[in-house]
Amino acid sequence: MEKASEGKKMTEQEKELLYKTNEELGEEELKRISGLVALVKRGAELLCLLPEAREELEKDPDAFLGRYGLAGIDPDDLKLMFYPERGEELKKKLTSPDFMDLISEAVYRYEQFVGNKLYLRNQMREVECVPLNKQMRIWRNRQIERCKGALGGVNESFIHDVMNFELSRGCSVGCEFCGVGAEKLQKVFFHTEENAVLFREVLKAAREILGDAAGRGTLYLASEALDNPDYELFEADFYEEFGVIPQITTAVPLRKPERTHALLKELYSKKGFIHRFSLRSLKEARAVLAEFTPEELLKVELIPQYEEAPAFVPFTVSGHELEKRLMDGEEIPEQAGSICCVDGFVVNMAEKSIRMITPCYADAEYPDGVAGPEKVFFENADEFREKLLFFIENYMVNEIPGDVPLEFYDYFECRQIQGKRALVSKHGQYTVFLDKMKEKGMQETIALLCQGKYNKREIVTQVMGQTGERPEKIFWFLNQLWKLGVIRDPVLFPQKNEIGE
Ligand code: SF4
Repeated sequence: MEKASEGKKMTEQEKELLYKTNEELGEEELKRISGLVALVKRGAELLCLLPEAREELEKDPDAFLGRYGLAGIDPDDLKLMFYPERGEELKKKLTSPDFMDLISEAVYRYEQFVGNKLYLRNQMREVECVPLNKQMRIWRNRQIERCKGALGGVNESFIHDVMNFELSRGCSVGCEFCGVGAEKLQKVFFHTEENAVLFREVLKAAREILGDAAGRGTLYLASEALDNPDYELFEADFYEEFGVIPQITTAVPLRKPERTHALLKELYSKKGFIHRFSLRSLKEARAVLAEFTPEELLKVELIPQYEEAPAFVPFTVSGHELEKRLMDGEEIPEQAGSICCVDGFVVNMAEKSIRMITPCYADAEYPDGVAGPEKVFFENADEFREKLLFFIENYMVNEIPGDVPLEFYDYFECRQIQGKRALVSKHGQYTVFLDKMKEKGMQETIALLCQGKYNKREIVTQVMGQTGERPEKIFWFLNQLWKLGVIRDPVLFPQKNEIGE
């Protein structure tokens, strides 16, 4: 049997609680458990955000717990959970059949909390964000597949939501890490009577076409939610239509602390999505930890964007930063990619525009890590509905186009892996094994796609000639590859000659 951690163990009573549902646990017990999780989460935040925290914990654990208000938490639990070198030990304990004797209630409940968050994220992607419109649904599935090769592992954390609204044009903050290339703040969409009517009608029209999935996105994108002084009023309209508080990521949680406190209170009183605070400096991280209680931040992720943070991860280089580096003659850096997980629409209410976007690897052509046609404008909800349908009809094309040469995306390399032929993406090594595709005509089809010179009919004719395979079987195989998102979509990613340049 694994050795238990040095500190607290689960009591018999705590073990019994693990078998109970939320209803059986009751309000008081649930409150106690979330309080416990909030304290552990605060412990994680201290260790992830403050460079001195680990040393403090090592030197005098009791003083550490006292200083940061973590009384009741076992310091060894914090070490077990958040010291990277103890990751394996934690995993073994959690997956052992004797786990109840090896970990404390705090460890179990925190891991359960994280597991629930991951489950909800997957539910968002697999269920909640699936649009009602069939054409868009099929298109979105293909983009999710495409992003495996285009973006690598990061795609697993993307929910591929389908509709986001911006309540201002541009952003007042100007973060250097801004991966969506937000321009300066230019216009705010105030909650006047007229604007409120338009907003509500637009939400209804979006819901008619996309279903509840239209209400699983955010009220910001290349903008800062809190730039709009009427954000809360729009949030209430959104809640009225969709029954959820939309997620906020803000880089200015301390701009008006009382406002942020109120927004969080609202989040806990209704059904809503986890919020995020982007912390732009160590000073700001300390101030946020001092301003907000652990309970208030239970549903808030704190993202360190400064290098001193022990958990700092170099940010994705897209948007302005990528443009700047390319202008300076630098190569595309390794941490390029995309931070945008939208496969669908961004509606800017301030300028009454709609953009259709899909994530892609940021480069000189797509510096913001998104691709999509030019935005269009609308005046009223009817026009909004019409234009949304126009995008779906004309740009979410699910048939393989007949008249352009077909090829694999250029980030794929066709090579041998342990003697097997495979398509390997240079973004994150996503691999499609081609040798498994053994039926008649498949390898010949792949070879022609690798050449990138022939359109759909030409490929079918040639493969028929070479192998005698029936045309419908070759079309079927091309369709399977198309659905896997490995064949370049000329509508979304046109070559220069395909857009008449
Ligand atoms: S990251 Fe967000 S807050 Fe910062 S500049 Fe970009 S849009 Fe604005």
